[in-house]
Amino acid sequence: MARIVMKFGGTSVADVDRIKNVARRVKTEHDAGNEVAVVVSAMAGVTNQLVDYCRQVSPLYDAREYDVVVATGEQVTIGLLAMALQDLGVAARSWCGWQVPVMSDGVHGKARILEIDTADMVRRMKDGQVAVVAGFQGLGPDNRITTLGRGGSDTSAVALAAALQADRCDIYTDVDGVYTTDPRIVAKARKLDKITYEEMLELASLGAKVLQTRSVEMAMKHRVRVQVLSSFVDAPGTLVCDEDEIVEKELVSGIAYSRDEAKITLVGVPDRPGVAAAIFGPLSDASINVDMIVQNVSEDGTSTDLTFTVTKADLDRAVKVLTDKRDELKFARLVPDSNVVKVSVIGVGMRSHAGVAQTMFSALATKGINIQVISTSEIKVSVLIAEEYTELALRALHTAYGLDAA
Ligand code: ASP
Ligand code: MG
Repeated sequence: MARIVMKFGGTSVADVDRIKNVARRVKTEHDAGNEVAVVVSAMAGVTNQLVDYCRQVSPLYDAREYDVVVATGEQVTIGLLAMALQDLGVAARSWCGWQVPVMSDGVHGKARILEIDTADMVRRMKDGQVAVVAGFQGLGPDNRITTLGRGGSDTSAVALAAALQADRCDIYTDVDGVYTTDPRIVAKARKLDKITYEEMLELASLGAKVLQTRSVEMAMKHRVRVQVLSSFVDAPGTLVCDEDEIVEKELVSGIAYSRDEAKITLVGVPDRPGVAAAIFGPLSDASINVDMIVQNVSEDGTSTDLTFTVTKADLDRAVKVLTDKRDELKFARLVPDSNVVKVSVIGVGMRSHAGVAQTMFSALATKGINIQVISTSEIKVSVLIAEEYTELALRALHTAYGLDAA
């Protein structure tokens, strides 16, 4: 007997038949003698619709009222799933976030969970009742409803698993696990049996949209074993776990890409102390995140070129911030470029092996792909290349690191 949290995303509860299908899966775990808490998202598309209503009524909406509106999607699903379970003869009741309660901070629209009081829930689960909990919802310090940011029900599930000290947190979704790279681009992508928290965190933050990044941080912090699997097929998925649990470590576990990058080059920047601070200070004041940075060697000792990346959404603002400061920064030209993609190879095996970056550089060189910017961290090497080479680069790297499925 185990205590498990099962989480079902929007596509898994997209219509009444799918909700009944979810109920059957929950019943199977419950019949096996497990204590079960289920976390659900809103039905597919519902949250988008609710967000859209808010924007239509008031473009500069009050974030507290936005939360009241968008949190309702999940309330519908918990009620329907509890009914579906009852119809299968399973004792079940629904829990809104505030009923648990899932206490959060007061950052409406993107709140963080502070504490979950599970005492009442545990008592009922021990009596054989399935707890059906609304994901995404919290209760703020001022007693108002909060939401946890888009995709936040993953975080709800992991946080609940941590609070319940659950043996497992199974995240059911529309893919059957975590892949070595995007299978829509690389046909030979493989499903991973296991991946470490660190690697998953990199993949999630680099745009692999399987799990909300925050949920992975939470899982890592509390050592919650998370399994990502499909609600439509009966097969084990990918386990996100501690490094110790993985016997055969690959050098590179996954290759991610993000099209959400844009590059800015400042040509002819004076080469003297304080220049980087003068450039990046105003950007950070404007809450613009800078990711990769390279500064060229100055040929004549007086001026240099500086290249860096921001998100595509921030590009126009970044250009404006810097252009406004042109007199002070004294650069000759500013060259924006949104036609770029960041490709990253990720693997904890890199910590103990040399040559991982070199494999990447030569694989790209062989395909004639020019690398514009490079950045590295302990378990990741990222390069910026022209966007039109995304597919070619992913396939070449997947082969170069020996990741292709047989
Ligand atoms: N329903 C929310 C959303 O669409 C939360 C979630 O699905 O994780 O963002
Ligand atoms: Mg999701």
